[in-house]
Amino acid sequence: MKSVVVLGSTGSIGTQTLEVIACAPERFRVAALAAHSNDVLLEEQIRQYRPEIAVLVDPDAADRLARRYRGRTVLLSGEEGLLAAAAYANADIVLSAIVGFAGLRAALAALAAGKDLALANKETLVAAGQIVTALAREKQCRILPVDSEHSAILQCLQGEKRSQVKKIILTASGGPFRGFTSDRLRSVTLEECLQHPNWRMGRKITVDSATLVNKGLEVIEARWLFDIDYHQIDVLVHPQSIIHSMVEFDDGAVIAQLGLPDMRIPIQYALTYPDRIASPAPRLSFNDISALTFEVPDHQTFLGLPLAYAAGKTGGTLPCVYNAANEVAVNAFLSGKIGFLDIYHVIETTMGRHQVALQPDLEALVTADAWARETAARYIDAC
Ligand code: NDP
Ligand code: MG
Repeated sequence: MKSVVVLGSTGSIGTQTLEVIACAPERFRVAALAAHSNDVLLEEQIRQYRPEIAVLVDPDAADRLARRYRGRTVLLSGEEGLLAAAAYANADIVLSAIVGFAGLRAALAALAAGKDLALANKETLVAAGQIVTALAREKQCRILPVDSEHSAILQCLQGEKRSQVKKIILTASGGPFRGFTSDRLRSVTLEECLQHPNWRMGRKITVDSATLVNKGLEVIEARWLFDIDYHQIDVLVHPQSIIHSMVEFDDGAVIAQLGLPDMRIPIQYALTYPDRIASPAPRLSFNDISALTFEVPDHQTFLGLPLAYAAGKTGGTLPCVYNAANEVAVNAFLSGKIGFLDIYHVIETTMGRHQVALQPDLEALVTADAWARETAARYIDAC
């Protein structure tokens, strides 16, 4: 029986993680749940999964829940509560589905406590890949990818020698604006942006998928998860999202992982690794697929990708700044303050103004993150 902590349990990945757990009660129990402010859903989850502890980071939401709730689960609040859940002694694995840089300290707390980390929160590896992977090595903990592309790569690498990998090919759906020119992108709306063709996800990653910043974040995530150079990571647009990613080896053989786009499969693999168990996700039927197609991404129009390679290759604090500027820009886009293409301007300008520190410690990354947020916000206000 594996005891699981789910951080970000009220979100898209968090709720699907709980579905996976509910389907295998003989294998999993929920030790702790944490969310930001959704007290209503967290309360339902507490009743269904009976964790030992549950956390709401937002103090007002935590107060609301504490006034209503009369059960056995211990309620905690604030950042301290989140870190306590992440490092909870009775847990075997921590699945982090928090969105953004806000997940970094919790991921570090889980690893510091010697827990395996099932990681959906890619921003953590983007901002602090070196520190996070070094801590995992030191504590001999696994970082198991939840992101479907990275889960695919992990599956393709089973039984293979890492030294014989020629390159990793990350697939990308291309998002709702695939094939659009910059002129067309200038006038796209938030509603159009939130209509992802293949996946239902949280709002931030849905916007990131449309800008291809999500794929940029995934390139940096792959660099750290698989300890591979940027020149060995390619991105290929594959609109059907059936091939979730591929690995090419020295002899020219390419191994791919396929399946319908359903996050419950990679979530479950991260929790059961290296085992596989039955899944409620629908099955891939090759009779229903007429074609699998591929395109080179348009780096001139979708700047999210080249900016990520630039940030990653420079390294140091720059990926953290890329991520922070994007988080601010996406929030501004979601609240109608800026247009779609302005997201790129915010990221590019903020990166351009940053003085990179090449070997940052955690404190330097937190400072760079705050600097980037302030710089991006000022640029947006001046627009
Ligand atoms: P959602 O926005 O749906 O959910 C985010 C979750 O994080 C919610 O539970 C939210 O709580 C919680 N949260 C937000 N801020 C904080 C905070 N400061 N402290 C603690 N908890 C917080 O996001 P997704 O599930 O879509 O994405 C989560 C992560 O997984 C992202 O990093 C994303 O890139 C990654 N991912 C998502 C995929 C998907 O299909 N959705 C696919 C691959 C990766 P509350 O509800 O209370 O606000
Ligand atoms: Mg992905």
